[in-house]
Amino acid sequence: MPMFVDTSPPGACIFCRLIAGDIPAARVYEDAQTIAFMDLGQVTPGHVLVASKRHAPTLYELSPEEAGAVMATAQRVAVAVRAAFDPPGLTLLQANGALGGQTVGHFHLHVVPRYEGDGVSFTWLRQEPGPDVLNAYAERLRQAWGPAQG
Ligand SMILES: [Zn+2]
Repeated sequence: MPMFVDTSPPGACIFCRLIAGDIPAARVYEDAQTIAFMDLGQVTPGHVLVASKRHAPTLYELSPEEAGAVMATAQRVAVAVRAAFDPPGLTLLQANGALGGQTVGHFHLHVVPRYEGDGVSFTWLRQEPGPDVLNAYAERLRQAWGPAQG
């Protein structure tokens, strides 16, 4: 996991400053609600970040409209990445909170082209607790269901 975490307040975080044009970025696309730019880290060639223009720290603070807009932009970026880089695979990654792997406290989504032997790894330990536990988890979520955030 990256060690760097930017927890700057709204307007002062590095993505807000990038959106405002105060710091340079290799911009790919922008519209009223979203911006797409090349990740400085380039995990693989063609790695793009899609961010909300409004400072929303995580997925939880996005409006439903912003959530839809970032996914629509991510899809457009993916189509462009496929046309320009022709990767055999592509991964979307979106992290929330330090424990979730988030390093900049302004909502963003990674569009990562994937190539054979690219070194990207994602440990995913399968557990199969069985239908009773799954149904209990689903019931907890149904009970917790509420209005969309934003
Ligand atoms: Zn910000």
